[in-house]
Amino acid sequence: MDIPAALGGVSTALTIVKQLNDIDRRVDEAGFKLRIAEATSALAEAKLGLVDAQEDIRSKEAEISSLRSLLKRKEETVERSGYRYRCDANKNPIGTALCPVCMDEGRFVLTIQSDQSGRPYVCPKCKANFGYLSAFQDP
Ligand SMILES: [Zn+2]
Repeated sequence: MDIPAALGGVSTALTIVKQLNDIDRRVDEAGFKLRIAEATSALAEAKLGLVDAQEDIRSKEAEISSLRSLLKRKEETVERSGYRYRCDANKNPIGTALCPVCMDEGRFVLTIQSDQSGRPYVCPKCKANFGYLSAFQDP
C-alpha cells in the first residue's frame, strides 16, 4: 500500500502551489512554469500511490470476506481430541476428522482410511497421515 507516497506527493504539490503565490508571473514566467510542472508531477505520483492503495484495499477486502466465510464454516464444526469434525445441530461430531493441515490453508478436506481394513487416517489432498483417529456415525 503506497499511502505514504501519495501523501508525500500531495504535500509536495501543496507546498509548490503555495510558492506560486510568491512568484511574480510577469517577471519570472520560466520559474512559474517550472513550479507548475513540478506540482503536476507530484500530483501524478500521488495519484499512482492512491491507485495502488485502492488496489490493496480491494485485495484486503476480498481476503477478509474469504476469511469470514472460512471462520463461519469452521464454526460449523466441533473439536474432539484435537481434531475438528463436521457436526449436527446438537454439535455432535459426524464422520471422519477434517485434515488440520488443509484447514490451516483454508480447505475443508475429510480424512479417509488408507485402506478398508481399519488403517490409519490420511488426507487425500495433502497426504498427511494422522494415525488412528476417532470416527463418528455419518447419517
Ligand atoms: Zn490435508
